[in-house]
Amino acid sequence: MTTKRPPTVLEKMGLNSPMALALHLPSRYEDETELFTIEEALGLGRFHSIQTQGIVIRNQVTFRPRRQLLVTIEDNTASLQLRFLNFYPSQQKQMAVGSHIRVRGEIREGYQGAEIVHPTVRAVIPEAPLPASLTPVYPASAGISQTMIRKAVLKALQDASLKESLAEFLPSTLMGEILPKNDWPPLQDAITYLHQPPADANTQSLLERTHPAWRRVQFEELLAQQISLKRAHAIRRERRAPSFVKGQQVSKANKKNVSIEEGLIKILPFELTSAQARVWSEIGCDLSNTFPMNRLLQGDVGSGKTVIAALAAARAMDHGYQAAIMAPTEILAEQHYLKMQEWFGSLGVKIAWLSGSLKAKEKRLAQEMIESGEAQLIIGTHALIQDKVSFTKLGLAVIDEQHRFGVRQRLEIQQRVGSELFYCHQLMMSATPIPRTLAMTYYADLDVSVIDELPPGRKPIATKVVKATRRDEVIGGLHDWLVKGLQAYWVCPLIEESEVLQLQTAVESFEQLTQALPNFKVGLVHGRLKSEEKAAVMAAFKANEIQLLVATTVIEVGVDVPNAALMVIEHAERFGYAQIHQLRGRVGRGSADSVCILMYAEPLSMAAKERLQTLRETSDGFVIAERDLSLRGPGELLGAKQSGDAMLRFVDLQRDAWLIELAQKAAERLLAEHADLVERHLERWLGSRTEFLKA
Ligand code: ADP
Ligand code: MG
Repeated sequence: MTTKRPPTVLEKMGLNSPMALALHLPSRYEDETELFTIEEALGLGRFHSIQTQGIVIRNQVTFRPRRQLLVTIEDNTASLQLRFLNFYPSQQKQMAVGSHIRVRGEIREGYQGAEIVHPTVRAVIPEAPLPASLTPVYPASAGISQTMIRKAVLKALQDASLKESLAEFLPSTLMGEILPKNDWPPLQDAITYLHQPPADANTQSLLERTHPAWRRVQFEELLAQQISLKRAHAIRRERRAPSFVKGQQVSKANKKNVSIEEGLIKILPFELTSAQARVWSEIGCDLSNTFPMNRLLQGDVGSGKTVIAALAAARAMDHGYQAAIMAPTEILAEQHYLKMQEWFGSLGVKIAWLSGSLKAKEKRLAQEMIESGEAQLIIGTHALIQDKVSFTKLGLAVIDEQHRFGVRQRLEIQQRVGSELFYCHQLMMSATPIPRTLAMTYYADLDVSVIDELPPGRKPIATKVVKATRRDEVIGGLHDWLVKGLQAYWVCPLIEESEVLQLQTAVESFEQLTQALPNFKVGLVHGRLKSEEKAAVMAAFKANEIQLLVATTVIEVGVDVPNAALMVIEHAERFGYAQIHQLRGRVGRGSADSVCILMYAEPLSMAAKERLQTLRETSDGFVIAERDLSLRGPGELLGAKQSGDAMLRFVDLQRDAWLIELAQKAAERLLAEHADLVERHLERWLGSRTEFLKA
């Protein structure tokens, strides 16, 4: 009979097999391979972490200036004091007078001469041999010591099964070229080396993870990842999705026998830019396939992604299928709702609106419309997947600002399409450009379309960086601006610690501006307003009943008022790259020259200074995203963080970008020539993490 015992700390860390332990690689090393006499150690002086040993000749707890333990050791060359400000009785015992100890630490000059504060201490017999390899320091967690992890890893490395688990099974036809060219060791050697590097190992390259042993491991991991990307690609092509071929539609929107798509094109007050036309034809082509589209539409703020979503939705609806548009915030979803009503309303398209803030009854009505199939176009927030909505016939899901959604949420919508046989087409949209290396590695099989051109007539936005002490001047300029009949935004600072404080400053600015600009109507919109109230303010701003809109960052995405071409951002130093870029994208949409004023308060951190400078110099979303990426790392950019899973453990996509292509080619060859080995390789490197790749 087996009894259930609680998992050990190792097991909780996922270290439950020899292989898992073998792949738990050190984050750094300590050098215990060299031993100095105390005299030599003293001679080396400060900034050297040294190891020495001796016999304890004094062990004393003193209380001045505070409780501490003073231990003196001695060898036949000299003596050395050790000072412990925190200590356990067990340590006191370990260092009893007469015992031999080996200590490591940095020698410094104390009040009473040379000493080491808080050395690492180990009881040894005087002749104990020195380790031949560097001592690994492992990622650990609460409740487990380095000694315990080291023991467990050492045991794992000696486990008979490991030879099998780390066996070299990638064919020599493949690895035969790659390994010698890069000077990479066999896998098992690489792993052993990383756990137990010899005393003379190049510690710099080990720390930076550029050592050939690291490269070998990184390559294998990337190879697994590239294989699963390619597999996801193949799997998607085997799934079925409704095929929407232009001209073969079933529904006619009105009596004139015009399709919704044709109707929409007639209603649009503009022609598509050539970039829009190109991406629309790419998407149209995807939609005509019998397998589900999985495409990311990238385009800078204001490049006109919405109309592409509308065209795709129209095509799905023309074939008798539902289309859904999901956005991460209520304001943004509402903007879409209003826009779609404007475009599709007169074409007789039934639109349902679903958001978290609806009353229970309204929600039920919306859900009924969706489930009965009466609603052709469904627009909403996360509510579309959170609430128990099921579609009758969902043919297309558009996900705006996709990086704000988790991977799992995107998978979720495919399970609500109303058919087990079909998957819906997915179109994701983002203003945050994703560098190529990320697109190649993070997303399973994702096609990317880019709108690389802004609609005509857009004027570049002049960005100015102004000290907050010149606030009165800024308000003066704002007055002149409004006199010209133009509108403006005033964005209040983001105060992460406190929403109340944020609201308070917004209200203060609102009151100050209302007083300073008596001839104009000033509005206030913030996150605490009810959604009807927000909508009312936004509508009034859009209708130019409000000339100056004071806002917290609720306007971050999606708001579209071309006559508002000036934006003032207070405490711009508190915002990140992407936030300001998004905010700034609200202006520059009309024919007037647009201006964005970044007001900052001193003192500025170096990072903030650089950020504001970059933002002043460029409005190129790609440049800004690259800067942002180097600061924040890919997880945040892609929403991967939200899924709680990191895909790659050993690879850093920026540092190791060059490996990706190598792994990609190897993956192709492995799949083509040695398909039988693929499963084993995936299991070894990704285990349960492969699910992540399906998104
Ligand atoms: P984003 O890509 O940031 O979502 P939107 O779709 O909101 O941008 O478009 C921004 C503005 O540009 C909207 O007012 C939209 O109507 C307008 N627009 C889109 N395409 C064109 C075009 N081809 N010509 C002129 N204006 C356009
Ligand atoms: Mg948009």
